[in-house]
Parts: sequence; C-alpha cells; structure tokens
Amino acid sequence: MQIDVAIIGGGFSAVATALNLMDCLSPSNTVAIVAPKKGLGRGVAFSSPEASHRLNVPAGRMSALADRPEHLCDWLTREGTGFGAEDFIPRRLYGLYLQETLAEGMRRVDNGACIELIDAEVLDCERLDDEEQVFYLSDGRRLRARKSVLCIGGTPAGLPLPMDKIAPEARGHLCLNVWADRWIERSDLGDDVMMLGSGLTMIDQVLSLRARGHRGRIHILSRHGLIPLPHLVPRTNPVGPVLEPGAKPLSAMMRTLRDAAARADDWRSVVDGVRPITQALWQALSKTEKSRFLRHANAWWNIHRHRVAPDMWDNFEEMRASGQVTVTAGWLRDVYEAGGKIRAAYLDRHNRTLRQMSADWLVNCTGMERCSISKTPLLKKMSARGMIDGDGLGLGVAVDQDSRLLASDGSPNASAFALGPMTIGRFFEIFAVPDIRVQAANVARLVARALM
Ligand SMILES: Cc1cc2nc3c(=O)[nH]c(=O)nc-3n(C[C@H](O)[C@H](O)[C@H](O)COP(=O)(O)OP(=O)(O)OC[C@H]3O[C@@H](n4cnc5c(N)ncnc54)[C@H](O)[C@@H]3O)c2cc1C
Repeated sequence: MQIDVAIIGGGFSAVATALNLMDCLSPSNTVAIVAPKKGLGRGVAFSSPEASHRLNVPAGRMSALADRPEHLCDWLTREGTGFGAEDFIPRRLYGLYLQETLAEGMRRVDNGACIELIDAEVLDCERLDDEEQVFYLSDGRRLRARKSVLCIGGTPAGLPLPMDKIAPEARGHLCLNVWADRWIERSDLGDDVMMLGSGLTMIDQVLSLRARGHRGRIHILSRHGLIPLPHLVPRTNPVGPVLEPGAKPLSAMMRTLRDAAARADDWRSVVDGVRPITQALWQALSKTEKSRFLRHANAWWNIHRHRVAPDMWDNFEEMRASGQVTVTAGWLRDVYEAGGKIRAAYLDRHNRTLRQMSADWLVNCTGMERCSISKTPLLKKMSARGMIDGDGLGLGVAVDQDSRLLASDGSPNASAFALGPMTIGRFFEIFAVPDIRVQAANVARLVARALM
C-alpha cells in the first residue's frame, strides 16, 4: 500500500492531526490512521467507562481544534448534554466527542484528503530515503508513506521495584496498570487498598471506589505525599507571566514563582499566567537544570498545574477527613505476601525509618508521563536503526522545534514527526489537549506544505 501520510496511533494526538490534515491537504492526498480499532479516537486518557473519571480541564478549554475554541461546547449543546464551558465533563463523553468529530470529518463531502482507518499495530518501520518510509503492520501488510506522524503516547510507569523483587505470591494482590486491569471489579467493598502514587491517577481510582460505596481503608504512598490541588470556579484571571525565559537560575525562578503566588489573591492566577510561556521557560533551562527541576520541583509543579475539579477534590478530602484515606510520604522498598495480604515496606520520608503497611491490594497509580524507548517495541526497533533518539532526559523521543524526529546522529527527519507526550523532553508542557492541539495544527501545516 502506498499513501501520502501515515498517522500512527489512535489517541487524541492522532485525531487532532487527522482533523487538521483534512482541512489543509488536497482531495488527491491519501492519509491512513494506523491503530487498533478498539478505543480508536479515545486513547488511554478518554477510554475510561467510569462516570467518576472526569476531565481536569473545563470543557471551554478542551476543543480538539486550536482555531475553533467553541467546538466542544457547541457539540455538548447540540447533543443536549446539559454541560457548559465551566464543566469538568466525564472523560468518556469527551472520548465520544473525539470519535464523532473524527467520523464526521471523514464523512464531509468537501473533505480535503481521503482518510482511511487501518485496524493494526505498527510493528516496525524503515526509512527508505528522505521521501519515504515503510511501516510493517501486525496484519502482515506493508505501508509505504511519504510523510508520517508518530502519535503513540506514553508508557504506563511501572512500580519502582524490579518485578523479580516482588514475591510471586504477592502478585495476585497487585494491579500494575489501572487502565488495562479492572481490578476494582475483583475487589470487595471492605478490602483495604494501598495505592502507590498520589497524582490524578490515584484520584480517579479513589473516586471509583467511592462511587461503588467502598468501605475499606485506602492507604496512599508516594515519594512526596502531595495531592493535586483544586481548580477555582469561576477561574481567576491569569496575571502576566512573573518569569522570563532564561533570565535567572532555576532556584531563583522557583523563589520568584513562590513569592508571586503568596502575594496574589489566588495562586492559580500566577501559575496560569506562566502557562503560555512554560515551553519557552523549559527550553531556556540547561540540561542540568531540567534534570534538577524534574528531581526536586516537578512534583510541586504538577499539583499546582494539573488540578482537579473542585467537587472531586472535596470528595477526596472528605474521605481523608473521615480517616478512610491516609496519605504517607515515603519510598517503596519491598513488596511481599504475609498472612493472605500484600505487605509493603517503605522508607518514611519524614523520619527516614523503615515502616510497613499491608492491604488486600496494591494498586500502581504512578501514572503515565514518560515515553520509554526501551519499553516500547516499535521505538526500540526504530532506535536500533538509528531513526530516532532519546531526548537525553529519559522522558521521550528527541524532536526539533517543528516536532520532526531527530535521528541518532542528531539530523532532523524531514518526513517524520512525533506528537504529544512523546515529545515532552523538548516541549515539557505538551501533555494536555490545549497544547497538543496547537502542535497538531503546526505539524499538519508543515506536512501539507511538504506535499504540495
Ligand atoms: C488518565 C488520563 C487522563 C487525562 N486527562 C486529561 C484531561 O482531563 N485534560 C487534558 O487536557 N489532558 C488529559 N490527559 C492528557 C492528554 O489528554 C493525553 O496526554 C493525550 O490524550 C495523549 O494522546 P496521544 O494520542 O498522544 O496518546 P495516547 O492517548 O496514549 O494514544 C496512543 C495511541 O497509540 C496507539 N498505539 C500505540 N502503539 C502503537 C503502534 N505500535 N501501532 C499503532 N498504534 C499504536 C494506541 O493504541 C493509542 O491509540 C490525560 C491523560 C491520561 C493518561
């Protein structure tokens, strides 16, 4: 098969790329989206069937299209959902919006390019020359493409322990991937649960338990013991950015941010004010400063930047106040089975003593932030061929400012792009929809120009 553009992946990044390509390619162009049909359009983020799993950004800022900010809200109104711009809608509803928007785009008669869906996984890829790549698909076919956009997302983080350190008897009590393993359906309402990680993934799991009427205790362990903070509704207006790219060393920047937040009527206005220049701030840091930020400040940044809906936060805090939920800061050291329960040994962050907790379940909520080349078979093969390189920070793949993949010799590949969380090393603020949709529009424009 020969096509003009191959989009690899079926999550938000792929949908946003396809929607933009529809507008800027000509009808003679051919595009294929290659991804498993199951969950197509939703990706990991918007596949959850649970009503309690909601967006962490209000609907008014979640349009799939950067140039049509009202697109999602218009759809919510047309569908008679009763939701508006300020609502944190269920993620499954947002996933439906993405699927329907893609399907509608593909039906449009004035469509630009002809878009085809291929229900397959890409197993390998070879670069033939500057103008062509060939993809080897799980259905045995080969797909030749002049341009490609890699949108395969991140990899779920594993437990911070090698699996061979976990006793086999303990594994039946373990959920390693909350998006693939519906462990809650196997649990009892009175079970004690340990969750490792205290970010948005943990909040989802706790609120799922709450929705079922869970009665057992929930122990949360994470390195810092920090919980995402709530949005304020209505939102306070962002203030002008209090930081300037490259102006100060990292430690001084963090101090400026803290001081401004303390002086502001509401700290969110300072964090939101920095948002438009977060990519530029990140790119102005040296590699050493980036690593230092990831080690020491990222956990604090995340709880202020990636917030939860106020009512979700209230529900979580209510469970904490009642004693059902406890949060501990520490490092997991060991996991084993004892007396029919799973037991975790951890080093307490505050007094540096080794302590233990036990439960019926240990649930890995350490999230999905990084795109690991070594754990992603396709990327591993592309890396072995020198077609891609890591970003040097262990976050994802190396790309240039236009999101072109960089080969192992550092040269940009004029025909192959990557999008979304995979490019976090370059852009940092590229995990959420409002940022990816801008990247997708830019990449689609570059692809269209190159095909003219
Ligand atoms: C649980 C969760 C909740 C989130 N909530 C929000 C939110 O409320 N608001 C917000 O703005 N952002 C949110 N985000 C972040 C954001 O929406 C995601 O970063 C974004 O959806 C990433 O999309 P993606 O397409 O790059 O990756 P993914 O969604 O991970 O999709 C990757 C796709 O690639 C496919 N794929 C993988 N390997 C191959 C292969 N070899 N061949 C073919 N296909 C392949 C997969 O099947 C999948 O379809 C959330 C993220 C998560 C994980």
